[in-house]
Amino acid sequence: MLGMAKCPVCGSTLDWRELIEQMLSMENAREVFSDKERFLKELEEFTFKCPVCGEEFLGKYLPREEGEKVFELLNDFKGSIDWERRKVRIRLNQLLVLDKMLEEWDRRVKNVGHK
Ligand SMILES: [Zn+2]
Repeated sequence: MLGMAKCPVCGSTLDWRELIEQMLSMENAREVFSDKERFLKELEEFTFKCPVCGEEFLGKYLPREEGEKVFELLNDFKGSIDWERRKVRIRLNQLLVLDKMLEEWDRRVKNVGHK
């Protein structure tokens, strides 16, 4: 239904929180996570490991649009990242679904208005 990030090897739906936590292990993560362009570039080049099949794949196989949303969500919510433990505190997938639903709703409302 909703085009969530999937593992390009086994096709399992991936949890963005888990993916981002893999990126948080980068030494310069703080800088990367405060600059959108840099974040998206690092995301594309980052080697992720699928928690289901254990295969590695590059971030460029993840939907870029979702990567952008994830960046915005992480920056919109204060304290979304626990830097001490390098953990994500917010449920990114649920927020992405909600975000898509609201966009869809917005589109419908606008279409009705035009008739
Ligand atoms: Zn996989």
